[in-house]
Amino acid sequence: MPRAHTYPDPKPGDVILDFVGERRTIADYEAAGGYRQLERALGMSDKDIVDALQASNLRGRGGAGFPTGRKASFLAPPHPRYLVINADESEPGTFKDREIMLRNPHALIEGVLIMSWAIRAAQAFIYIRGEYFTEYEVLVDAVAEARERGWVNRPLPGTDYTPDIVVHRGAGAYICGEETALLASLNGFRGQPTAKPPFPAVAGAYMRPTLLNNVETIATVPAILAMGGEAYAAVGTEQSKGTRVFSLSGPVQRPGNYEMPLTGTFRELIEGLGGGMADGRAMKCFIPGGSSTPALLPEQLDTGLAFEAVQAAGSMAGSGAVIVVDDRTCMVQFGLRVAEFYRHESCGKCTPCREGVPWITSLLRRIEGGEAKDYEIDLLLNVCDRVEGKCLCPLGDACAMPVRSYVKLFREEFEAHVRLGHCPYHDMSPLSSLYPMPKSLLPLVPA
Ligand code: SF4
Repeated sequence: MPRAHTYPDPKPGDVILDFVGERRTIADYEAAGGYRQLERALGMSDKDIVDALQASNLRGRGGAGFPTGRKASFLAPPHPRYLVINADESEPGTFKDREIMLRNPHALIEGVLIMSWAIRAAQAFIYIRGEYFTEYEVLVDAVAEARERGWVNRPLPGTDYTPDIVVHRGAGAYICGEETALLASLNGFRGQPTAKPPFPAVAGAYMRPTLLNNVETIATVPAILAMGGEAYAAVGTEQSKGTRVFSLSGPVQRPGNYEMPLTGTFRELIEGLGGGMADGRAMKCFIPGGSSTPALLPEQLDTGLAFEAVQAAGSMAGSGAVIVVDDRTCMVQFGLRVAEFYRHESCGKCTPCREGVPWITSLLRRIEGGEAKDYEIDLLLNVCDRVEGKCLCPLGDACAMPVRSYVKLFREEFEAHVRLGHCPYHDMSPLSSLYPMPKSLLPLVPA
């Protein structure tokens, strides 16, 4: 992956990736002003810190986009309270938290310490995806560096508050990126979602009030204190403030992570920073917010990156993973690949997802293999209806929504498979080498 680039706007366009180099050590970070916002925060009340976050209007960067300051204000008062960082980045196409942890780990750690101080957390946990081996080691080393400087496991200067940070590895389950499943896993139980309420702000880690935020969100906190909440809010649109890191992948010339103000557009990201399509290919569609979000067409490239702009265009900003799809790609295969992922990751706790997602996968497999009858395309949409909005957690929707969008936008491709009895793209598709899948992975095939 190429090095991260920052948006070529003057400051404050660069917040998270505002440096050059492969990895920022604590000395580099301090030389650039690192840990000064923690010192400043120690002179602020908890209310002042939360007020600064509220003024910034920062929205969570993990996927849901919930306002960070408001979330912190919901935290139930009884102590002990905990801070948990969701570093279980697993949405296909998303690799920006990974880069922040790998290359700028002290931005995250300073953010963790500021928020720990703000809520007087008894302990902070960074719950990191099990497959992120190197990132785990980098974070553990970075926490040790911060400990050597006296920022961790010692009373913070001028206070009687002692922060503690635990880097906790998950075991490689996508569902543990969902907050209640993450907390169940952290608490030592099977990583499955639970119904809300209770919300984590009331009963989270150890069933105590817990503030749970994503890596990028917390890594942005020092910058917000440095700039001031209002100045941060001056960047962006009415409902989407500041900058965001986008993971750009697919057949573009310069895939990678790019930080952009939320006033930007997908065209600026894909054609500007990403250099446009590679190998002279044409774009078929792009996925604006990770594999769980509906596709958008090339004529929608001028859609804004802001949460509300993507929603108005018919999709979601999601995790900030922008996946470009070119004209060689069979959308039935693409949908099958997406559905296979969610079928594999479904935890099986609720019926619509446990039963519906395998049916979506089976129907796509039948269509892709040229075995389906005419009515099975509508049957596929029918099953999507029965999954969407009916599950305990968003995973069911994450499968049904994109698949429905592929049928809606590219129905003629689905019909061509049925009519021809085979995939018209098979030899062209970059995904064709992935199929056929082993028979042992096939679920019940509809009659
Ligand atoms: Fe588990 Fe899927 Fe239900 Fe979520 S939607 S609780 S992953 S079965």
